[in-house]
Amino acid sequence: MPGLCSIDNRLKKFCKESGEVCVKSLRTLIAGLVFLAPLWWGPLDARSSDAGVVPQSGAGMIEFTVRPLKADPSDVDHVVLMQASSSDGREFYEIQIVGSDVLVLRDFGPCVRSANRAPHDLKQSGLYTFLLSWNGASTKFAINGREIKGFDLLVNSDYHQHAPFITFGAAESFQTSGIRVSSRSDISPDPADRSLVEQIQCPRLGQLLDAKPQEQYRGVLLYGFPGQPERGRAMGYIDLLPDAVANGIKRIIFVDAAERMGGAQGLTTSRDTFFLRKGYEAGTFFHEATHTLDIQHNAGFSAAWGEKFLRDEARQVAGRRSILGALDSSSASEQLAQFSGMVYEFYLKNKTFADLETVFGPQTKAQLDFLLGNGFITRDVYERLAR
Ligand SMILES: [Zn+2]
Repeated sequence: MPGLCSIDNRLKKFCKESGEVCVKSLRTLIAGLVFLAPLWWGPLDARSSDAGVVPQSGAGMIEFTVRPLKADPSDVDHVVLMQASSSDGREFYEIQIVGSDVLVLRDFGPCVRSANRAPHDLKQSGLYTFLLSWNGASTKFAINGREIKGFDLLVNSDYHQHAPFITFGAAESFQTSGIRVSSRSDISPDPADRSLVEQIQCPRLGQLLDAKPQEQYRGVLLYGFPGQPERGRAMGYIDLLPDAVANGIKRIIFVDAAERMGGAQGLTTSRDTFFLRKGYEAGTFFHEATHTLDIQHNAGFSAAWGEKFLRDEARQVAGRRSILGALDSSSASEQLAQFSGMVYEFYLKNKTFADLETVFGPQTKAQLDFLLGNGFITRDVYERLAR
């Protein structure tokens, strides 16, 4: 998936276990609270898009009023309240409600995502002013004047340019109104944010595909491996995969410069391509391979996995983008890939079903059945671990 590194306190445990997700410095954004009178406000109708009033990159604010319509505002599917890009297409903003959380993100710079996810505590028929502000590398979000702290900076995929737009969701569960957009910001740029962002190296992984593949094995092109032993290792892993998975993989790229991957061990960038960082663990290979098959089926497998095994918000983001991209551990696609990767890892380490159950709990057998039934593991792997 295109996202690279997720950074969320609640994900730390997951990050450690999966080895896939990098944890860059976590820091609560400290906004300088110098209020500047707005230079201008552009009134907007819900769902409108007008290049004259879309936000400006660099510094600005988007404010709107939210009124929950349902008795339990948490009892909602994944609702996007606002989505916008800046007039020059260089930045992207989004506010979502996922169950009991509000999710806020801003993409800026060549590859940076500023993301925040926090409980919202909205009540039916209440009126809530949502205010998203940005200035340089700093981003702030407030509900009714109360700042929701906890923005984290992530390395995102390299920048995609958007056509300028702004839309507000008018879902059955929330009403949005009173929309104002400003090119002034109520926060000052924080030098600490800027220096963090300056340290981020954009992955530019696509460049690695400009090189010639070193070898083709069972239809899979191998790139960038430092020598035959590393390629042989990958080929051995390919041989463990069921045909349905192996045949769908077209490119595997070994990344020698670890910093290009942030801290990630692996990264799936499309339906048939994934990257592995020097020193990757076996489970990472199969984790990424699992993503490819799932993506080829439009995340249908992870959606089914979410329905079957996850509850609450995790089910709601099944197969869809969540605040941290696909690397949000609460997304079903990650949970599926994580479990699958561990199954292979345990298989290779000659571990038992009891070992697996210790980690994954009472659903382990049903989850193994899911992997076998949907072609993620061979019967050989299944039989070793289902007993
Ligand atoms: Zn993953």
